[in-house]
Order: sequence, then structure tokens, then C-alpha cells
Amino acid sequence: MNVLTGVRTFSHSVQFKFAITFLVLIAGLMVMLNTYPTIVSRDLVFNTKQASLQSQASVMSSALSAPDELTSDTVLEVMELLDLRSLTRVIVTDKSARILYDTARLDPSVGRYAMFSEVRRALKREIVCYSVYDGIAFMTCEAMPIRNNGSTVGAVYLYEFDSAQAELISNIQKNLRNITLILSVAAIILMFIFSRALTARITALAKATRIVSEGDYDHQIEISGNDELSELGREFNSLTQRLKNTEEMRRRFVSDASHELKTPLASIRLLSDSILNSENMDTETMRDFVTDIGNEAERLQRTTEKLLSLSKMDSGIGSVHEKVDMRRVAEKTLHLLVPLAKEYHVTISTELQRGCFINGSEDLVYRIIFNLAENAIKYNMPGGLVKILLFSESQHVVLVVEDTGIGIPDEDIPHIFSRFYRVDKARSRDAGGSGLGLSIVYDAVRLHSGEISVEKREGGGSRFIVRFPACSDISGDRHSES
Ligand code: ADP
Repeated sequence: MNVLTGVRTFSHSVQFKFAITFLVLIAGLMVMLNTYPTIVSRDLVFNTKQASLQSQASVMSSALSAPDELTSDTVLEVMELLDLRSLTRVIVTDKSARILYDTARLDPSVGRYAMFSEVRRALKREIVCYSVYDGIAFMTCEAMPIRNNGSTVGAVYLYEFDSAQAELISNIQKNLRNITLILSVAAIILMFIFSRALTARITALAKATRIVSEGDYDHQIEISGNDELSELGREFNSLTQRLKNTEEMRRRFVSDASHELKTPLASIRLLSDSILNSENMDTETMRDFVTDIGNEAERLQRTTEKLLSLSKMDSGIGSVHEKVDMRRVAEKTLHLLVPLAKEYHVTISTELQRGCFINGSEDLVYRIIFNLAENAIKYNMPGGLVKILLFSESQHVVLVVEDTGIGIPDEDIPHIFSRFYRVDKARSRDAGGSGLGLSIVYDAVRLHSGEISVEKREGGGSRFIVRFPACSDISGDRHSES
């Protein structure tokens, strides 16, 4: 791979590595197929030939061991009784290696001395037997002593030259070579097609990854089949879809956040301009304008704090591993909301069980209770009621916040935990809301491995139910207070 240009040479490609492995395998297989069967059949022929020659030599040796003295005539007499057709040459010598009998047609050497080392060794009581294959014929040789009363009186020498068996083996060899050649060519072609198809799919995946990394989240890979690469492609497509959703959420969030920050800033700008531009503004009006500027600044502060808190949770900052006494945090939080409840003419009633402990973050638990209770007050009616229950239930701590307020329409319920979502924009804005409170609640509950749900309350209003995994040593009685 050329790092600067990003061009990959063929020798570095998967296709090349795949092809080389395959070729080495095929070559190994070809060598095996061409040598092993030949070696096995050659050894088989050697064994049968040596066994046959050995048994014939034994018969001759024992037949010739009878006469007292070996002469050409006595040998000829015995040999005429034997079947020597399968043998190329048979030589019988006396104990001094003088040839008494020879079947060689061209140059029979009767009367001469045999110079073969095999005969000499046989006369020294050795049995000599070996085969040779030169690719054209099998040559087998057997030499055996002729013994009479414990002494060596001569030697038998047998020689067989067989080209028919050799031709058979060389034909098998030729056929094997042709078959392996055809198989190798077919395997190489298949390997080429297969490796090309494989690398084409890998290249398509790499190309798609590059396109997506450049920002085109709509790019999807075409998937066919059900193998590992198709699985990888499917995973890639779902990852791209998730990236697209995250990117959309991020864009929406940035645009909503800028809008949320822009509105109070524009009001502050407008109010301050009005004060600066009007020369004779009376003190009362100026005080009202400055109060409005203060309210907008407070709204801005609240929104930025909430955004900061969400961003902290997104990046997982903050520990959720302390033992939190839910009842104590609830009491502290609700105490802070008493002035707001008075302002909205709403009554808060609580039923908080002792010993409700969870593993988490006290600050996040405070935010959960505060936001839910604040909403229950803000979206209530004068003379309304907010009821807060806390109790433990089979390995869980349950927090219920219900109100007798305006309620949430069914179609809005699935969206209320989304960032910046508001059912009634005007009412939320009047109440100083930003549409971030329930998102913070949702994320904080999730960080505690808890669950949150919302339902309509019979007789009007809403009920939020939060379920946290309880800390292992919870115990306590149900305790009420109002
Ligand atoms: P906000 O800051 O506007 O209150 P939230 O995220 O806390 O934002 O709530 C989202 C929206 O859900 C609110 O604007 C409001 O319309 C609706 N909502 C939340 N809690 C209640 C409730 N207890 N009763 C009725 N409506 C509610």
C-alpha cells in the first residue's frame, strides 16, 4: 500500500494472498497425486516379483541339490522338467562359478565362468534378491546357492525383465498427470473467479465506509446472500442508519438550543435598546423593563444550566455509585418547591416510606424529583393537588408523582421526553420552561438503570412512575406525612 497515494499494489491485496495460498495447496496436491500412487504400485510390483523369483529359485535349488555332482547334462535334465517361460534368463553354475546351464538365446555362456557378483555372493551361501525400475521396465534378480549335504555345490541365477507391468504403471502415471492438470486448471479458474468476487465485495464495503465517513449517511450497501460478508454489510447499513439518526438529533439539538438561547437574548437586547432610546422614560416603566431583563437573564441561566447538565450526562461525567437515601432527598427537594406551590395555589401531599435506598447520584436524584414535582405544580390548576409517593417494592424503589392538572394528550405522551419538546409552548414559556426538564429526568433515570413511565390519572391530570433498582440493604416501614 502506498501510504501517500492510498493505492494498493496487487502483491498486497487479499486476492493475491488468497491466490498464493491456493496455488501452494494445489501444487502440493499435484505432487502428492503424481508421486504417491506410483511409489505404492512400484513397491507392490517389486514385492510380488521378488516373491515369485524367490520361490522359483528355491524350487530349482532343491531340484538341483539331488545329484552328487552337477554337470551340464544333469542340470539340463532337471531344467527340462521345470516351467521357465516367465523368466528372461536362468543360469546354473557349479561351485567354481563355471556356467553349466544358460537360457540366453543370443550369447549362451555355458563353459565360461560367471562374473556376476550375485553368483559369487550366492556361492558364499548368500541369497541375493533385488528389483530395479527405470521407468521403462522392471528388472528383478535372484541368486541362490545349491546345497548338498551341507556344502555348496553350485548357484542358481534368475533374471526377469518385465516391460508390460512398467508400461501399465507409466500409463497410470500419465493418466494421473492429465487428471491433476485438468483439475488444477479448473481449480485455478474457480479460485480466480471466487477471489475476485470476494475482494470485489470487500472493496465495496471499504468504499461505502469511505463515503459514509465523508458525511453521506444515506449511503447503503446492496445485500444479497447470507454469508459473513452479507452479515457485515447488514451491520454496516444499520450502523449507518444509527449514525444518520444521531447526526439528525445532533443537528436538531444544536438548532433548538440556539433558538432557545436566541429568544431571551433578543428580548434582553430589545428591552435594553428601549431603555437607551427613550429619553423621558418614567422610573416605573424602567423598573418593569429591568425586571423583565432580569427574568430573561434568569431563563437564559436556567436553560444553559440544563444544557450543561444534559451534556454532562451524555458524556457520562459524574458518579452514580453513592448510596442515596431517597426519602431525605425528596424531603429536601420538596421543601424548595413550597414557594412555587403557594404561587400556583397547589397543595403538595407526600407519602414517603423510610429506608428507600438506591445506588446513584444524590444530585441527579434531586434533579429527577425537582423536575417532576415542578412540572406537576406548573401544569396544574389553582386549588389543585400534587401527590408524591415513595416506597420499596420487590428489589425496586418506586417514586410516583401525580397531579390533578391539565394532563398530557395521548399523542404527545411518546414525545415528552425528547429534548425541547413542549406540549403547550406558550404555557411552558410563561412558566419559565425550556422543554429540557423531562429529558434530564429521562437521562438521569437511565443512568441509574431505572425505568420511567407516564400515564393519565383517573379524574384528570398525569402520573409519572419511576422505578429504580434498590440498594441491597433496604428495609423500613411505610411512613406517611402530609
Ligand atoms: P418544560 O421545561 O417546558 O416544562 P419539560 O421537558 O419538563 O419541559 O416538559 C415537556 C412538556 O411536557 C412540557 O412543556 C409540558 O407541556 C408537558 N408536561 C410535563 N409535565 C407535565 C404535567 N405534569 N402535566 C402536564 N403537562 C406536562
